[in-house]
Order: sequence, then structure tokens, then C-alpha cells
Amino acid sequence: KKTLLEVKNLKQYFPIKGGLLGRTVNHVKAVDDVSFNVYEGETVSIVGESGCGKSTTGRAILRLDEPTSGEINFDGENLLALNKSKMRKKRKDLQIIFQDPYASLNPRQTVSQILEEALEIQKVVPARDRRKKIVELLETVGIGAHQIDRHPHEFSGGQRQRVGIARALSVNPKLVICDEAVSALDVSIQAQVLNLLKDLQRKFQLTYLFISHDLGVVRHISDRIIVMYLGKIVEIGDKQSLFENPQHPYTRALLSAIPSTNIEEKKERIILKGDVPSPIDPPKGCRFHTRCPFAMERCSSEEPKLHTLPGKEHSAACHLLENGAVDYATLTSNY
Ligand code: SF4
Ligand code: MG
Repeated sequence: KKTLLEVKNLKQYFPIKGGLLGRTVNHVKAVDDVSFNVYEGETVSIVGESGCGKSTTGRAILRLDEPTSGEINFDGENLLALNKSKMRKKRKDLQIIFQDPYASLNPRQTVSQILEEALEIQKVVPARDRRKKIVELLETVGIGAHQIDRHPHEFSGGQRQRVGIARALSVNPKLVICDEAVSALDVSIQAQVLNLLKDLQRKFQLTYLFISHDLGVVRHISDRIIVMYLGKIVEIGDKQSLFENPQHPYTRALLSAIPSTNIEEKKERIILKGDVPSPIDPPKGCRFHTRCPFAMERCSSEEPKLHTLPGKEHSAACHLLENGAVDYATLTSNY
């Protein structure tokens, strides 16, 4: 397996200004020492509640926000070491699709103008072939040639997201970051767009980094899943292993919240106490200790390391894993 993207010790701290002099008085530690990699052709999802740092991670990879520190190695190059003009050229290889395509599509342009602009900036095809390429692209995402002179408001939400996808694909990217790309859509439309993304991945050998607050949504599309909490990775693993044998108490709570499609499978919903603490002064030790049903004394002072399950590509940052996989059946019967 070839690594396409390697994120190493990524930190994204946003300064908070205060006082009469407007000095930096503190920081929002939105992403705090995050490392992971993405293999060519796979889909890795980052999941967590709002404020966990998942979108910030996506934006930092594209340098939409300049990261505080770390490395973003993409296709053999550290993106953070590139100057502006080199980065602009690289941007062709890394595209992003947002939740609300309406906000990112110019309402005064027709769909064909929107795509034409993207093709022109990155000089993907000669000018005389652009119209043909635009029709092709739109057909690939399920929008007919007769619709190409329409404006974004003339489309439904799902169709607009298809236009957003066509625009991202127009420059032949290697990596596409989907930030809550289907979250605003109705469930039935979500499934259609997810299936489209899967088809496009096969057709164009794309690699996806899929960002979502909903583990249920990423279930079918992911190869591997990363769970984040308060700026840190708490669990990362192969999808099947993570769904069948979640190790971190937070992942278990998230999984218990997914509505079951199987009537026989009666799950008990794990309700976490309290709210997510502020990322300005995150809890010491394990950041999850204020809400964790299994918190021990050491959890409030000692930060847990990522422990890897023997023989698996599956790790979680929790003291409970010190002696191997956690046996939750036994553990919960003692509570
Ligand atoms: Fe819970 Fe402690 Fe594990 Fe953190 S380290 S998840 S507080 S048991
Ligand atoms: Mg977000």
C-alpha cells in the first residue's frame, strides 16, 4: 500500500486576543498533535462532534488555514514547506467539497461557467475542448447536457452537490476532502450522493478523506475510520474492526447513537454526561475523563497513549487498553 497523505504531529492553535492591547491571551487548541496517514485509493473518515477538530484538520491539509506546526506530506512532498505559487499548483491535486455547495458556487454564474472557470485556472484542457469536457463532467455526476446553462438556484440540493463534485473533479485531483458533503441532504439523497462518490472513486482512482459528525453516514463509504475528540485522535482503525470491536469509550458512545437497522439487534444507547469541554483549556490527562463512564483516578492527570491491538490496524488512546483489547462485557457488568 502506498501512502498518499501523511499528517504528522499537526497542531492548529488559534490565538484568542484580549485586553486593551489586543495581545494573545490564550489559544483554542483546535487540533493538538494529530498524526495519521491515508493510503492511495482508500477512503479514510474523520468522525466526531462539532468542535473536535475534524474540519480544522481538513482545512490545514489544504492550507486554507496555516497550521501552527507539523508536517503534511502529500505525494512525497511536505506541503507546509511549499511557497505560495508552488502550493497553488499543488492545489490541483487536492480538492475539497463542502457541506453547502450553494455557499461555494457563484449564484450569478451558470453551471457551465462555474466549471469553465475551474478548468481555465488550472489549464486542464485547451480552451477549444472545454465545452466538451464540461458536458462530460456533468454527465459523469448525473447532470444532463440540457442543464448546463442553468444557475445553481435552479437545482435541488442534491444536484447542486453534484455540481460541486463535478467542479472538484474537473482538475483531476488525487485526493478529495469531503467536509460534511452529504450532511445537509435528505437521507435518500445522501445515499445517492455517497454511491456516486464511490463510483467516481473507482472510475478515477480517487483517494477520499471524508469528514463527518455521523458514524452512520461514513459506515458504507470508509475503509478506515478516525475518531476525534477535543483536538485529539482517540481511536483509529479498520472500519470493520472499529464497528465490531470499538475500543475507546467515546467511540462506543458514538456507535450506540446510530439508529439500528436490524430489529433483533437491541442496542443500549450510551448517554454521556455533560457537554464537550472548551478547547481553550481542555481537561488535563485524558481529555475525555470528565465524561467517561470508566474514568479512573490516573485519567485526570496522565494522558493515555495510542495502544495498538495485536495484529490489527486498530489503535485507541485509553489507559484501559494497556493490557490488550478491552473486554467491555466484563467491564460493564462490574459497573
Ligand atoms: Fe476513560 Fe480513562 Fe480511557 Fe480516558 S483514559 S477514555 S478517562 S478510561
Ligand atoms: Mg465542521
